[in-house]
Amino acid sequence: MAQLTRSPKVYDVCIIGSGASGGTAAKILTEGGLNVLMLEAGPPVNPDKDFKEHVWPYQLPHRGVGVGGKAADNFGEFLAPNGAWEIEGEPYTVATGSRFRWFRSRIVGGRTNHWGRIALRFAPVDFKSRSTDGMGDDWPITYEDVAPYYDKVESYIGVFGTKENVSSAPDGVFMPPPKPRCTENIIKKACDKVGVICIPSRLAVITQPHNGRAPCHYCGQCGRGCISASNFSSSQVMIPYAEKTGRFTLVTGAMAREIVVGKSGKAEAVSYIDKATRTEKKVFAKAFVVGASACESARLLLNSKSSQFPDGLANSSGVIGRYLTDSVGASGGGVFPQLTKMPAHNHDGVGGMHMYMPWWKFDRKNDFLRGYHIEFGGGRNLPGVGDFHSLCEYTEGYGSSLKQRCRESYGTYIGFAGRGEMIPNEQSYCEIDPNTVDEWGIPVLRFHWQWSDNEIKMAKDMQETFRAITEAAGGTYYSRATPDGPHPYGIEDGGVIIHELGCVRMGSNPKTSALNGYCQAHDMKNVFVTDAASFVSNPDKNPTLTIMALTWRASDYLMDESKKGNL
Ligand SMILES: Cc1cc2nc3c(=O)[nH]c(=O)nc-3n(C[C@H](O)[C@H](O)[C@H](O)COP(=O)(O)OP(=O)(O)OC[C@H]3O[C@@H](n4cnc5c(N)ncnc54)[C@H](O)[C@@H]3O)c2cc1C
Ligand code: SF4
Repeated sequence: MAQLTRSPKVYDVCIIGSGASGGTAAKILTEGGLNVLMLEAGPPVNPDKDFKEHVWPYQLPHRGVGVGGKAADNFGEFLAPNGAWEIEGEPYTVATGSRFRWFRSRIVGGRTNHWGRIALRFAPVDFKSRSTDGMGDDWPITYEDVAPYYDKVESYIGVFGTKENVSSAPDGVFMPPPKPRCTENIIKKACDKVGVICIPSRLAVITQPHNGRAPCHYCGQCGRGCISASNFSSSQVMIPYAEKTGRFTLVTGAMAREIVVGKSGKAEAVSYIDKATRTEKKVFAKAFVVGASACESARLLLNSKSSQFPDGLANSSGVIGRYLTDSVGASGGGVFPQLTKMPAHNHDGVGGMHMYMPWWKFDRKNDFLRGYHIEFGGGRNLPGVGDFHSLCEYTEGYGSSLKQRCRESYGTYIGFAGRGEMIPNEQSYCEIDPNTVDEWGIPVLRFHWQWSDNEIKMAKDMQETFRAITEAAGGTYYSRATPDGPHPYGIEDGGVIIHELGCVRMGSNPKTSALNGYCQAHDMKNVFVTDAASFVSNPDKNPTLTIMALTWRASDYLMDESKKGNL
């Protein structure tokens, strides 16, 4: 039978989740002098043991694809630990007629242990979308409000890039970027021919010694974690600094179930499941920072029901779960004859692209609203899980002739992936599934999803652009995308790009938003939701840099308000 254990200690702040958001809050609040307790659903991480950065395929059973190739779907067994599309015992459901996938990590540092490290600022226009084209909503804050915090985050975590003065992709505080590789030079020249801007990418990888961290040694395996902490993870770059203050308590294996409102009408505790003992426990705090990742944060609030908040904590507006978006994603790639003839050469670099294409058609009228950027990669990297799958699909044969073809094709392919803005719609949201609980007895989320014509037109444009760039470089373009079916023009299912966000959005009107511009709940002054749930729109930029900037800003505000006795 579940036991209720009451802890008498009252912390200044309880943070839920240790990823990009929770980790940032922990560092800022503890260094600011507050006593912080963090609840993290997963186990601790030990980079020396858990990160597989320098493991060779032959050192793992099945060369890293798992039994029956199952791990390939989760980016392979090399991935920094504990991230998956499905978590045993912790399901989610998808409504009939919808297609949605949810990638979660249960470990200290969350998904920052294996994110792609693409660290892009939102542009001024991204905060003002409704004023610009009449769709979606404006944020209650502007680029100018967030810019000082982008500066702080970039300066602290280390981001490489170059100043380019492209209005859709604001410059930041950058370290020098690595040199373009051969494949990147080929694509850059083709982009120049077809009028697409191609510039050094912006990644949270340090290219110079920084705050005691060694610079990148270009092993190219960032998704496996980085033992030398040369790329950013919350587990290595945020949490240890919170721990150093002596004001930080981390409780792992602690799955928050509910934020409890006390007799005073304020949030006073979090009730959580201690996974090791399967008992329910409570921790008390004066303020709460929810950073469990966008949809988990929405789930926690929706499950926090009381007589004061029958529809979930801080949900008098009814918006929690609504306005869910992901990036528009479509991909394709080309085979390039000049690469076939390329002698073996050093292709070392960071574990991601050295160049990318920011949104370049911001100065004209397009067939769709908003925009997308393009990520690309290929060449002579260490072959990854499933690298030769498509070769086997496109050609017949086996044995030595197949191996020969693999050798010939290795390094000749360059893939493109578009990442575009989805405009929130009524049909895309998450809610509590009344019929399903996880193994801890906590009700789970049910997802509803629909792309609109705008996103499908964007995916079409992506395919046309990938083809144009490939052909301008003399390559042959391959894509399975067709105009119809469940994935028109190759558009991915909702959630697949892992930029799901927006379901506890901020706004200036408490009737149409759950949070104010400081990520503070309109209905509950001592509750802050600092992850991407707070976003009002989902511009083409990957969200994590903005999550950290908003969390840093919210943490500063929380400390000020706490000093003033306003929480
Ligand atoms: C393979 C991959 C590549 C990516 N590439 C990029 C990229 O290049 N650029 C980019 O900007 N973004 C990228 N992302 C997305 C990025 O990882 C996320 O935006 C970011 O990690 C979100 O931070 P977060 O703090 O909101 O949540 P997470 O990092 O997901 O952390 C949430 C933490 O909360 C914990 N938690 C959840 N529920 C509870 C609960 N009830 N109680 C206690 N703890 C809980 C989880 O265990 C987890 O540790 C990528 C993601 C993946 C998986
Ligand atoms: S490429 Fe650089 S940052 Fe990435 S894992 Fe290797 S050393 Fe670390």
